[in-house]
Amino acid sequence: MGMMRVTRAYKDELDLNDRQVTACKRHAGAARYAYNWGLARKQEAYKATGTSPSAIDLHRELNALKKTELPWMYEVSKCAPQEALRHLDNAFAHFFRRCKQKQEGKLNGKLGYPRRKTKKNGLGSFRLTGSIVVFPDAIQLPRLGRLRLKERGYLPTSGTPSVKVLCATVSEQAGHWYVSIQVEQEQTVPVNTGPVVGVDLGVKSLATLSDGTVIPNPKPLKRRLRKIKRLHRAVTRKPKGSNNRKKAARAVGKAYRTASNQRANILHQVTTMLAKTKSVIVIEDLNVAGMLKNHHLAQAIADVGFTEFRRQLLYKAEWYGSRVMLASRWEPSSKTCSGCAWYNADLALADRTFRCEQCGHILDRDLNAAINLSQLAKLAGSSSESQNAGGEESAGGG
Ligand SMILES: [Zn+2]
Repeated sequence: MGMMRVTRAYKDELDLNDRQVTACKRHAGAARYAYNWGLARKQEAYKATGTSPSAIDLHRELNALKKTELPWMYEVSKCAPQEALRHLDNAFAHFFRRCKQKQEGKLNGKLGYPRRKTKKNGLGSFRLTGSIVVFPDAIQLPRLGRLRLKERGYLPTSGTPSVKVLCATVSEQAGHWYVSIQVEQEQTVPVNTGPVVGVDLGVKSLATLSDGTVIPNPKPLKRRLRKIKRLHRAVTRKPKGSNNRKKAARAVGKAYRTASNQRANILHQVTTMLAKTKSVIVIEDLNVAGMLKNHHLAQAIADVGFTEFRRQLLYKAEWYGSRVMLASRWEPSSKTCSGCAWYNADLALADRTFRCEQCGHILDRDLNAAINLSQLAKLAGSSSESQNAGGEESAGGG
């Protein structure tokens, strides 16, 4: 049992009165203004000089403008525009990182050049740092004061020793306001003594575990895509600026929110279960960019959220004291017999069952892959890891 400092994020819905909604809108507006202004300034400067001002330069410039042209900005916390400019810097860093990945052939998706933020995509968000106090039923933010929380006692309160609130982000989604806080806290790290498990992330089902458990695919987006499309068409049929159009737009936002919440929920359930109950979790380090080239898989992979799954699993494993092993994607986990290691070079993506011609083993394709993955942990474990050796008896069962 060790101690470590971890950074965690918590999110709760806010219960705001009209005055507070107005103040939050004003902050989101200031953040959006600063972001768009900074983006234009960077583009201008780049065209003229080939270099681009940093967030710090821009913040200094914006402060000077506040005195002359933007007096309304004094009504909001100075953090809101400052953090927006920092966010803009990160957006450019992200873009340049993706440019580099694309050059190296590791990326097929969009590069994501930072775009202007418009009100069309909701009122947006803003981030605050500084004096943030969390009570059981409320959060106190700079300039905004004490805001009520919908779910009592979910956020870690400021009185708790060894809890440090780093920053808070307030955001609007389909008429609801949320706050998420980044918290640094001390945490005891248990040594997880559960079994070793191999996890095959699939297309047909979300995941198959080497113990035979199958976790079905939620595919909420795919199922709801038609509904969202229909709602979207309804928006465009209504006259611009009408109340009915606004109502229809809210319905679209709500449908998106439900779909993404559903997906997030199932991923969180699965990754928490794995990190809590298994000592070692072996997953394949898939080449997602390569898989996305395949049109049949693209939608399904995006839906399953493989990268999100891995991200959650990695941080949760740290909390619960389990280990995640990434098996090289060159390990032939799906084409090798988990019983005798016979290699089936002819196995196609459409073959759902693995049939071994050497030992006669017949089992589900994904289960075979999951068992192979769990066996990789045994191989690695026997040489380097002794700490979890006691908990490996059920590896490869099924
Ligand atoms: Zn075999």
